[in-house]
Amino acid sequence: MRRHYNALEIETYRRMHTMQTVEFVTAQRARYAQPTSHMTIEEALHLLERMVDESDPDARHESQLAHAFQTAERVRHTHLAQRTVQSVFGEHEWEQLPAHVRTAYPATLGELYGPEMDVWLPLVGLIHDCGKILGVTGELPQWAIVGDTFPVGCAFDRANIMYELGFWRQNPDWSLATSPCRDILGRYARHGGFRHLLMSWGHDEYLARVLERHAACRLPPEAIYVVRFHSFYPWHTPRAGTRGYAALASDDDWRCLPLLKAFQQCDLYSKGDEPPDVPALFPYYRPLLDAYLPGELAW
Ligand code: FE
Ligand code: FE
Repeated sequence: MRRHYNALEIETYRRMHTMQTVEFVTAQRARYAQPTSHMTIEEALHLLERMVDESDPDARHESQLAHAFQTAERVRHTHLAQRTVQSVFGEHEWEQLPAHVRTAYPATLGELYGPEMDVWLPLVGLIHDCGKILGVTGELPQWAIVGDTFPVGCAFDRANIMYELGFWRQNPDWSLATSPCRDILGRYARHGGFRHLLMSWGHDEYLARVLERHAACRLPPEAIYVVRFHSFYPWHTPRAGTRGYAALASDDDWRCLPLLKAFQQCDLYSKGDEPPDVPALFPYYRPLLDAYLPGELAW
């Protein structure tokens, strides 16, 4: 499904895979625990117009604001609550799921996450990349903002993008064959859940933290889960039949997997859609923002 990589993408991932370490992620979490500005989601969306994502060839010529509305509209018009859980998986992928996971899923996404998902998930589409405002000020390089994410503090799974290029071998956490980070569990507990992982620092984790500290946020936990893990490709989108990091997944991560997949498909496939009429769409989304994410957030 994923295609050839251009030189800029390869360079972004080279840096990411060599420089995202336990120490780096820990330092960013501490740094961004102190907000530096206050703004509404709508203000953040307008800031995004100035951001270019170097890891994404599809989005390079299109503004991030357009991408936000395209994703939101794609989610809204897909009416995911009615879709079957099975339909978000490929046929082979479905058969590869652990039997106890597959049989635990109800028939539809709406049964799994509640019918209101068709109200809040489009809003997640609108906001999911707002963390990329980190790229507007130039305070962080692209390799610490965009691209597919992965946990640090455990082995680098072969399901990761560009695994075979071996950049990760130059990462201080993994350069020694005896490093505890070379173990599949590393510093984590088996099936302990992704909530406890140190994920590579980027726009996903950053925005999830901004939402979590916003006392007036009325989004359900599943919405923040999608924000946090939407770029966790080695998990939600298997490569060569391998779903990465399954040893770290908890029952709740398996429960949220269909939601993550359904969302990711709207995120990815909306990129070819008609350019959105942003001024015409804001009046639809503004009341939703007022209901679920009112006021200024601390960024
Ligand atoms: Fe994203
Ligand atoms: Fe996106």
